[in-house]
Amino acid sequence: MKIFVKNGLIIDPDLGLEAVGNLYIADEKVACIQTAAGNFGVLPSWSKEGSIGEDVTVIDATDKWVVPGLIDLHVHFRDPGFEYKEDIFTGCAAAAKGGFTTVCCMPNTKPVIDNAEIVKYIDEKTKRANGVNVLSIGSITKDQKGERLADIREMSQTTTRSTGIMGKGICAISEDGRSVMNAGLMLQGILEGKANGLMVFSHTEDDSLAGTSIGEELIVARDIMLAKEAAYPIHLCHISTKGSLEIIRKAKDDGIRVTAETGPHYFVLDKSNVGDEGNKKMNPPLRTKEDVEEVKRALQDGTLDAIATDHAPHSSGEKDCGYRKALNGVVGLETSFAMSYTALVRGGILTPSELIDKMSCKPAEILGADRGSIAVNKAADIAIIDVDKEYEIKAEDFVSKGKNSPFLGMKVYGKILYTLVEGKIVYAAE
Ligand SMILES: [Zn+2]
Repeated sequence: MKIFVKNGLIIDPDLGLEAVGNLYIADEKVACIQTAAGNFGVLPSWSKEGSIGEDVTVIDATDKWVVPGLIDLHVHFRDPGFEYKEDIFTGCAAAAKGGFTTVCCMPNTKPVIDNAEIVKYIDEKTKRANGVNVLSIGSITKDQKGERLADIREMSQTTTRSTGIMGKGICAISEDGRSVMNAGLMLQGILEGKANGLMVFSHTEDDSLAGTSIGEELIVARDIMLAKEAAYPIHLCHISTKGSLEIIRKAKDDGIRVTAETGPHYFVLDKSNVGDEGNKKMNPPLRTKEDVEEVKRALQDGTLDAIATDHAPHSSGEKDCGYRKALNGVVGLETSFAMSYTALVRGGILTPSELIDKMSCKPAEILGADRGSIAVNKAADIAIIDVDKEYEIKAEDFVSKGKNSPFLGMKVYGKILYTLVEGKIVYAAE
């Protein structure tokens, strides 16, 4: 398949590129980037004036962004075990609609992703989905019970789509949904990850202090210390408090290899927005206005490396029952770009290039995946976005089974027009 993406604003932080130009895609890869300043790669023969044949799909990207496909380090696809909330097919559809070309699935499924068989099940189902790359995150302990390590080596050595992207059957290990509360076992987990080239994605919460700021900050501090002890990098999930950010900033200053993510809800909403809405309940919960400001500052100064969604679909019965009774978690794949672009780029916090860095390049770098750039000969994983398009976020527009968004009714800018994975169009807006 040949695709000619015409006259878009090509933004690739990895290449240091932000320029209007054309993109030529062939055989699943980027063949050439053509800008006024010159070309990257060689113009294919079919690019010559008047020779764009019928076998070439032409996408007019005038006034649109053309960026590396977004990468989400943190989603819950609920499959296997909770397919009434989401399954791999609907999860992949939501990802593609949100401009995501690669997503990393947390292991708190039923059964838990703690062995090669479940990793293979997810991979098989992914092959029958729309083409979005689904990478599994294995659990740290068997059945997420916190008693003994899961079969980390076996999962890592399973051949999956992830193997082609990053050389391992799973992309990371995590106990997300809870923490490994036994620090000695957590250290063993980090070391077993190290032995298999896998980083721990830490859930950053003391289970006995769930929902509190101190509960988050204690595990942030603990897991940074454990990573230092193990002499291996660690990634911290869904960071939401000023105190956590101070600890991470200091650790980075000290040269400890730690990366951290936050989600759009933590820089757009604060706890004064909650009311009695189940859709505004997630873990960690919405914090204070001061925390929100600090999260934005940390995105700006690089203390926070990545934006992840923590996409956590639930059924309406589990969410439309008031704040107290509702389960934790919100959907995010279909709103992440628009919320982030509107709040951070239009809000003057990040440049366009910095935003794409946090939503694609940095996540790829954290994973060690050969993605996150549209350099010549890279897999053509691309999102094409109309950032001037204003619209309202509505539950009925979601293709995810989960309608539990905290952003319903909000006006945003930034509509995904096309999502391409390995040179194939996996989503096109109507
Ligand atoms: Zn978590």
